[in-house]
Amino acid sequence: MSQPVKEVSRVLPARKRIALVAHDGKKQELMDWASRWKDTLTAHQLIGTGTTAARLSHTLGLDVEGLMSGPLGGDQQIGARITEQALDLLIFFWDPFSPQPHDPDVKALLRLAALWNVPVACNPSSADFMMSSPWLGQDYEMRIPDAQAWISSRSDNN
Ligand code: PGA
Repeated sequence: MSQPVKEVSRVLPARKRIALVAHDGKKQELMDWASRWKDTLTAHQLIGTGTTAARLSHTLGLDVEGLMSGPLGGDQQIGARITEQALDLLIFFWDPFSPQPHDPDVKALLRLAALWNVPVACNPSSADFMMSSPWLGQDYEMRIPDAQAWISSRSDNN
């Protein structure tokens, strides 16, 4: 049974920090999608797992900070940024047809995005909606778990 979690406000800035990740079977789909949204993406700060970031940079000339490749821990690095409130949007084209060697990391990343209320797009149509949102280029106020209250309630000896 889920416990009630206190919440606080978080504001996603107008210039978003966007993570782009695609499994091998979905990389071309992401390239095609990013090509259509290149001008929009350029206005934001982009990061990605190693191979995805390299392909976006080489193919489209986008400025993308490359983290570790996904199977080598890149998904976990993105999850850490979510936890630190250092990421605003996640575009993650995971492949529903291929089991991945790092399936636990994929699940962990999606869990953290759900937990921290970070918008996630897992396919081109949801990513289209995300890029078309009026909030993409504006501050967006949302609710996230109150980490301090969580720790206090669990460390209280009373
Ligand atoms: P990659 O990682 O961009 O390094 O291929 C993606 C992933 O499998 O999570």
